[in-house]
Amino acid sequence: RIVTAASTDLNEETFNLSLRPQTLDDYVGQPALVEKLKITLEAVKQRSEPMEHVLLHGPPGLGKTTLSHIIANEMGTHVTVTAGPALTKGGDLVGTLTKLQRGDVLFIDEIHRLPAAVEEFIYPAMEDFKIDFTIDTGMHAKTIPITLKPFTLIGATTRAGLLSGPMRSRFGITHNLEFYNHDDLLSILQRSANLLGLTPLAPGSAGGPRGVEANPPAEPGAKGEVIEALATIADRSRGTPRIANRLLRRVRDFAQVKADGNLTPELVNDALKLEGVDHLGLDEIDRKYLTVIGTTYEGGPVGLEAVAATLGEDSGTLESMVEPYLLQIGFLARTRKGRMLTKAGAEHVGVKFRPAEDA
Ligand code: ADP
Repeated sequence: RIVTAASTDLNEETFNLSLRPQTLDDYVGQPALVEKLKITLEAVKQRSEPMEHVLLHGPPGLGKTTLSHIIANEMGTHVTVTAGPALTKGGDLVGTLTKLQRGDVLFIDEIHRLPAAVEEFIYPAMEDFKIDFTIDTGMHAKTIPITLKPFTLIGATTRAGLLSGPMRSRFGITHNLEFYNHDDLLSILQRSANLLGLTPLAPGSAGGPRGVEANPPAEPGAKGEVIEALATIADRSRGTPRIANRLLRRVRDFAQVKADGNLTPELVNDALKLEGVDHLGLDEIDRKYLTVIGTTYEGGPVGLEAVAATLGEDSGTLESMVEPYLLQIGFLARTRKGRMLTKAGAEHVGVKFRPAEDA
């Protein structure tokens, strides 16, 4: 699925890495969070303290991992990345925690998926930078207290509701990442296109990111076309930088093979049509999801489990990968009684809209 915000393969991760901004100034959008982080970073640097623990929530692909790298970079420290599902027992973290240097960042993705035992193991590490490491089992079991260097835990979660209260309360900064607007996505795409050598901008001309070599000047008109092409991609990126960069990558391949390599809005449309992505960035699974609610369940309200069963999809996947954007653009409503298709959603997939009487 091309418009999923989940990362798909190693190639993509390498590609993403090359496009990842390194500093808060290059991090586009999320102004409230960036402002908050700038102030906190400045203050802790003045006091020579590590940054407090940060909890970031929001759909995948909005820049949570990127931010943890930026925070470490701004602190002049290192980041270690792990994920909730990779940790099954407290012992799994001992090696990582004891290797952390003062001010280092430990990034735990999908922190809501940490087993309870690991969560409890982490609490004293977060609060007092101490852990109790148990060796052996049964009557020989021994607990060794270990003191850690003060570090910053950055937790990321797509499902904030699943995080336990005690875990949540241990973060000094909690922030909900928002979907990006058109202009922000366009500037992310311009930066990426420039890094990939796709923009025909003159060196040093406006629009290029700082410190990035731009291409030589191209014939007049080409710049406008590229910007229009990038704006077309931005409109189909579901408010998500990761998707924007992925679509750009596909369009680049398409342009290279099917055309002369130059980006135009028509080319973007052709390339994305091939991928089943429509002008709003919705793909087959989004349209099927909306259609099933509109037809099988007569517009709802219907429970997520029922829709998931009809589609043969996992309900958790639908909840974190499909629904957030449909809710955001007003195609779907969530009520106490279940999911409902809105008028705009029904129109988009061409099914009859039936206003619910008492939802
Ligand atoms: P998450 O951890 O939330 O799933 P990532 O941090 O991996 O998302 O972001 C995916 C990609 O999107 C990154 O590699 C980066 O290139 C790009 N990206 C994300 N947020 C931003 C941003 N604010 N500005 C510029 N690029 C971004």
